[in-house]
Amino acid sequence: MLLIEEEKKGLVETLWQKGIKDETLLKAFYKVDREKFISSALRKFAYDDNALPIECAQTISQPFTVAYMTQVLQVKPGEKILEIGTGSGYQSAILAELSADVYTIERIEKLYTNAKKLLGEMGYIIHFKLDDGTLGWEEYAPYDKIIVTAGAPDVPHSLVEQLTVGGKLVIPVGSQESQRLFVITRNEKGTEKKIYEHFKFVPLIGEEGWRNKGQ
Ligand code: SAM
Repeated sequence: MLLIEEEKKGLVETLWQKGIKDETLLKAFYKVDREKFISSALRKFAYDDNALPIECAQTISQPFTVAYMTQVLQVKPGEKILEIGTGSGYQSAILAELSADVYTIERIEKLYTNAKKLLGEMGYIIHFKLDDGTLGWEEYAPYDKIIVTAGAPDVPHSLVEQLTVGGKLVIPVGSQESQRLFVITRNEKGTEKKIYEHFKFVPLIGEEGWRNKGQ
């Protein structure tokens, strides 16, 4: 069996080959133990570049997806970042390793509780909320960056409203089968939109997301 350091080096090498060149971000991937965010039965797949199932029929995103979205956001130390879809908590940990001030919302109670406990035990200071993240987190707005880690039918208006001027929102938008990554930058006149790669996420379910409760 490979040593954990070798497995992590292998993952970082894969991310680099796929175009993730930001050294600080790659260091964050080296630092965070992904095996802590999945069940022990899946331990041997922890550092593969694949999404994996977590509880409640949800997923921990593929490391490349986490890296790509984070790189697109150009996270800087001290920035206030809102994440929608805490899930396992892995993306939150990566953001915290970049010295961001992280606010994260999850709609499923079990995942919220698990992630809050785990990230607390790992020593991260992160703000957690159990709620429908499509409405954002008004109390602490505005945010420098917002990252949505579930696929939306459209861009939630509430999230755009909670961005600083100059702030960026990254969100997968499309059908429930496939989405394109939208990056919305708020400026003084309104917003500017760029569209990136195709991804496949679990659905963003809520008032400004998919309305079905099937998941
Ligand atoms: N960032 C996660 C990670 O690192 O493990 C990825 C989680 S998974 C791909 C997406 C998560 O979004 C799921 O846990 C799901 O329950 C959550 N979700 C879906 N709709 C939501 C909503 N309206 N508000 C908050 N969380 C939501």
